[in-house]
Amino acid sequence: MAFPEVLERVIKNLAALPGLGEKSATRLALYLLSRPSEEIKELAQSLLEMRSKLKLCKRCFNLATEEFCQLCLDPQREKDILCVVEDPAALSAIERAGAYKGLYHVLHGVLSPRDGIGPRELRLPELLTRLRQENIKEVVLALSPTVSGEATAAYIVELLKEVPIKVTRLACGLPMGMDVRYADQMTLKRAIEARQNF
Ligand SMILES: [Zn+2]
Repeated sequence: MAFPEVLERVIKNLAALPGLGEKSATRLALYLLSRPSEEIKELAQSLLEMRSKLKLCKRCFNLATEEFCQLCLDPQREKDILCVVEDPAALSAIERAGAYKGLYHVLHGVLSPRDGIGPRELRLPELLTRLRQENIKEVVLALSPTVSGEATAAYIVELLKEVPIKVTRLACGLPMGMDVRYADQMTLKRAIEARQNF
C-alpha cells in the first residue's frame, strides 16, 4: 500500500463510483486532500443532507423533499397528461426543454433482462394504478430510443392496450441510440411538441 490507510480508504470509496477508475480516484483524493477543510466539510455535509432529505414522491416517484414533489403539487400543471421517463435526470432534461406542462411518472430504470431488471423492478404497477385512479387522457412515452428504451416503450404500449388512453411518443427527431438525458434542449423541445401516436 503506497498511501496511508486513511487516504487509501478515500481512494477505495471514490473508485467505487461509476466512471471513476483507480487512477482518477487517486487524483481526486489527492486534490481533495489539498483543499481547505471547510470545503471538504461542505462537500461531506451536502452529500449527507441530500441523502437524508430527498425521498421519492408518493405519486410520480420524482425526487421530493416532502410527501409529494413540486411538480405534483403545482396547480398550474396539466393534470390529464402524463409523461413517462426513465429517471429524474430525464425528467429534468424535459423540464429544461420547457415544452411540457403536464405530470410525470418516473420508472427508475428501463427493462433490461440481462441486468435482471424486469417489469417488477420498475414503477410499472404504480403507473397502471395511477391511470386507473387519475383522469389521464394522454400518456407520453419519453424513453430514450435505445434497445432497452424501445423494449420498455413496447411493453408499456402492450400494458395500456386495455386502458382507453391515447399513447404518444417523442417524435423521431431524437436520433436512434440517443439518450433523452443528454439530448440538447432544442431537439428535445421539438420532439415533445411533435410527439406521435404510438
Ligand atoms: Zn410527484
